[in-house]
Amino acid sequence: MTTTQVLRAGRRTGPAYGLALPFDLTGAPSARDLANGDWRLDATCRGRDHEWWFAKPTSARSRRAVRLCEACPVRQQCLAAGLLFGEEFGVWGGLTHIQRRPLIARLLTGVPLATVLATVLGEQHLVKVEAA
Ligand code: SF4
Repeated sequence: MTTTQVLRAGRRTGPAYGLALPFDLTGAPSARDLANGDWRLDATCRGRDHEWWFAKPTSARSRRAVRLCEACPVRQQCLAAGLLFGEEFGVWGGLTHIQRRPLIARLLTGVPLATVLATVLGEQHLVKVEAA
């Protein structure tokens, strides 16, 4: 199944936050923690004009949003949520939907989410996740 087919199947079966894609979450934030959204309380975009994050990816507003994401304290959780729940639109964790697509394809091959997050964000941005 292609990434597009997986995402479309998700759309048919339920809301984004009710349907986590089948990723290896070893060492990554849990689907429950990502879905409950408490991490958004510390988001840099909180209280700002969200249209920046959903503007055309090549626009000045979108580039401004991406720059703000780079210093966001919850960037890891945001990117993880955007990937895990197959968000098709907007900037999540500083990446546009176009940039996230190849990551989702990689995750669907079984590469752990924690590995992809580390590759994209660098180890220094990662919050240590304790083993359950
Ligand atoms: S990484 Fe960007 S989109 Fe995500 S919570 Fe932070 S500022 Fe908002």
